Amino acid sequence: MAQKIYDLVIVGGGASGIMAAVVASRKGASIAIIEKNNRLGEKLRISGGGRCNITNAEFDLRALLKNYGKAEQFLYSAFTEFGVRDTIDFFEEIGLPIKIEARKRAFPVSDSASDVVHALTHELHKYNVDIITNTRVTKINHSKSTIFSITCGNRTIKGRNYVLATGGTSRPETGSTGDGFNWLEQLGHSVKSPTPSITPLKTSESWVKKVSGTSVKGARITFYCDGIKAFRLDGDILFTHFGISGPIILSNAYHVAELLEQGIVTAKIDCLPALDPKELDTRIVELLHQNGVKQVKNLLRLIAPEGLAPMVAELTANKINLDTKAGELGKNDRKTLLDSIKELPLTIEALMGVEKAVVADGGVSLKEIDTRTFKSNIIDNLYVTGDLLDITRPSGGYSLQLCWTSGYIAGNGYTINNERDKA
Ligand SMILES: Cc1cc2nc3c(=O)[nH]c(=O)nc-3n(C[C@H](O)[C@H](O)[C@H](O)COP(=O)(O)OP(=O)(O)OC[C@H]3O[C@@H](n4cnc5c(N)ncnc54)[C@H](O)[C@@H]3O)c2cc1C
Repeated sequence: MAQKIYDLVIVGGGASGIMAAVVASRKGASIAIIEKNNRLGEKLRISGGGRCNITNAEFDLRALLKNYGKAEQFLYSAFTEFGVRDTIDFFEEIGLPIKIEARKRAFPVSDSASDVVHALTHELHKYNVDIITNTRVTKINHSKSTIFSITCGNRTIKGRNYVLATGGTSRPETGSTGDGFNWLEQLGHSVKSPTPSITPLKTSESWVKKVSGTSVKGARITFYCDGIKAFRLDGDILFTHFGISGPIILSNAYHVAELLEQGIVTAKIDCLPALDPKELDTRIVELLHQNGVKQVKNLLRLIAPEGLAPMVAELTANKINLDTKAGELGKNDRKTLLDSIKELPLTIEALMGVEKAVVADGGVSLKEIDTRTFKSNIIDNLYVTGDLLDITRPSGGYSLQLCWTSGYIAGNGYTINNERDKA
């Protein structure tokens, strides 16, 4: 029997690959989606802490695209065709109601990332897509300008067109191990090496371990490079085993990466930015006065923001005798206490590696991708989607939106090109 030749072979069953498959299959194309894991969407299932921040409900296109940095112009036409509103409508139409939370982050009402995968997989079954799991693509067989087939161990799969949707290098245990980057280079594309992009920061201070899991609500962090103020962020900061995390840290890690290239990076956290130092001092004076006979160490829980007393104790222990009675604490000691809350010093060693990153940046140069179809300008039957594209973006739903849009455009672009070829 002659071997089946699919209209479209999609390598990688993550967000963008599945979207491309749904769109193209709805247009009647014969599709195979090849996934090395035993099921689709492993990374999607852990996205948004298992809740899946599906998009960012910024409906002003220009404002939305500002979040994609240098790719703003490149993405304009694609997002005009399939943007945030289309994404929300798409998911609601396939039975997944969407809600919008703080910072315009959109989630499934069910708060379940697995529901997103189920809804999408249901569509794939509905349109008879061949879902080939447990199958690792090991080779792309090609000439200078065309892909002929792909090899999966001792099996060959053939298509007229191909989508590469194998993701980047973040969280490799989900399957994204950077295979796509290697193939793209072999195919003649330029690929910028990925570095972790949305990722926590590693600090030199080991005391962070003691407060690991504590979140400082509404904090302010100022970053310095070689002692010179670089930038400031306001928001919640989470202490981790290795350093600091939280939405503002993750979203701005790439700025910190730039600073790390230039010099020594330090930071100061103001855990109570709403109070100026004078007001906080007055509050501490009152507390010490009301509890004059108690030892200072027993008052730290009242002085420090919630959960941070162990940190204040650790930072001040070699400067203040914490056994001192509150009523006997001098002005300089009070200042030490205050500084540990208002000017908490940290030294940033590095960004955490890809194993902790949400996305890694880098990827195929946008100059080599057609902006209207996401087709390769080098290989005439190849489309590239999702994390494989060199597009930096913050956390907050922007990564998945990029996957939905690029997947949609590739799936749709394939059919447009195909129809053009037939005409
Ligand atoms: C912990 C975490 C949380 C996140 N949360 C959010 C969020 O809430 N909102 C948001 O917008 N973004 C989030 N992101 C980012 C978002 O999940 C990714 O941008 C998105 O999933 C990338 O989709 P993709 O289609 O490019 O590739 P992936 O989802 O990485 O899928 C690629 C697939 O290709 C398969 N594959 C790879 N190589 C081969 C091969 N050789 N053969 C066969 N198959 C192969 C892999 O197994 C994988 O299933 C999060 C990321 C992480 C790690």
